[in-house]
Amino acid sequence: MRSVAEHLAAVLSLGAPLPAVTVPLAKALGCVLAAPVRAATPLPPYDSSAMDGYGVRAADVALVPVTLAVLDAAPAGSPAALTELPAGACVRILTGGLVPPYVDAVVAVEQTDGGRTTVRIDVSAPVGQSIRRAGEELPAGAVVIPAGRRLSPAGIMAAAAAGSGTVTVFRRPRVAVLSTGDELVAAGSPLGLGQLPDSNGPGLAAAVRAAGGEVVAVEHAPDDVAAVAATLARLGSLADLVLSTGGVSAGAENDPIRAALEGSPDVQFVAVAMQPGKPQAIGRVGSAAYLGFPGNPVSSLVSWTVFGRPLLRSMAGVSAVSPVSAAVGAPATVAILAADVQALPQRQRYVRARLTRAPDGGPAGAGALAVVPIDGYGSHLVGGLGETDCFIEIPPGAETHEAGSAVRIVLLEGS
Ligand code: AMP
Ligand code: MG
Repeated sequence: MRSVAEHLAAVLSLGAPLPAVTVPLAKALGCVLAAPVRAATPLPPYDSSAMDGYGVRAADVALVPVTLAVLDAAPAGSPAALTELPAGACVRILTGGLVPPYVDAVVAVEQTDGGRTTVRIDVSAPVGQSIRRAGEELPAGAVVIPAGRRLSPAGIMAAAAAGSGTVTVFRRPRVAVLSTGDELVAAGSPLGLGQLPDSNGPGLAAAVRAAGGEVVAVEHAPDDVAAVAATLARLGSLADLVLSTGGVSAGAENDPIRAALEGSPDVQFVAVAMQPGKPQAIGRVGSAAYLGFPGNPVSSLVSWTVFGRPLLRSMAGVSAVSPVSAAVGAPATVAILAADVQALPQRQRYVRARLTRAPDGGPAGAGALAVVPIDGYGSHLVGGLGETDCFIEIPPGAETHEAGSAVRIVLLEGS
């Protein structure tokens, strides 16, 4: 058996970052920047008011109260027409409005009587008050987001504010998902005797999307060697990464993935020292990277999380320029166990768990992240996936990890 780390290294060697492409912002969420986003203008782009109020010359409000003539208005998007400001006058200005060059301070409306033709100003204003200066955050051309960062909603907002309608990112990996098994029917269809809904197909497709991949096919093949071989060949020609579930265990006569691919120089069948997820297929089909996961739903989701997702992220460019190389692996963190978990002697154990908070007065302190293992270790126990936020990762060993101890967890997207 190979260790999880050894298999992950083999998996990651299957995929390099895909070529850079320029995409509209609306398609860029979750993509990794292949080139920095730079500010097209100074940020902010122009001198603007931070308040609703009156644009004045500070000298005119040095002695208060004072009444000024209101000669023009500058709401956001409609600069004042007035080109010069006579002494004793001001312009009404609203938040985001362009500050005219003759104005050197803004008095908030709350510090006035709010008049429209004349206004009584009650409080003096120092030069610069409530004016957001052009370029006070960044000059034009400055890097707003460095290459290598994954675009989050915050990043999309920053890129838009910097004037970018498009961004240059590593192409989103195209992923095909294939479920195998004669017993499977599409979720929601009536079940005949001995039939089961295909849960891996929809689940893995959602996981791929959540991780930033583009799902190009979600298919099912019966336990028929020729059908599986033909489907894999076709999927291999349209995807960057093909994932299959089921049909990889040794020895069963109905394991069509093994029957179709064993003997291919491009695919290996290996046993990985983990539970669940021990039988794995790895290699290439056509020009695509290929991972074959075992069919039990928990096994397939653990396999995706531990191997598939890091490969997808690496193909999506996370490793290419990111200083955070750990981000190539699954996002992992540490949490406090809420119940005992027994390690397995030879295998790394992945236990489904729900996130919660450590109790007050516990050793980890109030509010620390805690995990409640979900009952049942059977990899067929699909119901518990409904409240699974993460997998607890228990290295091989003999010990019991006791409630209150810290453990490594691997988070699922959306938890
Ligand atoms: P296999 O790896 O093909 O031997 O499948 C192992 C177990 O997982 C069997 O009980 C299958 O019925 C079940 N299984 C396989 N594929 C799926 C799937 N796509 N959705 C739900 N259960 C599955
Ligand atoms: Mg099967």
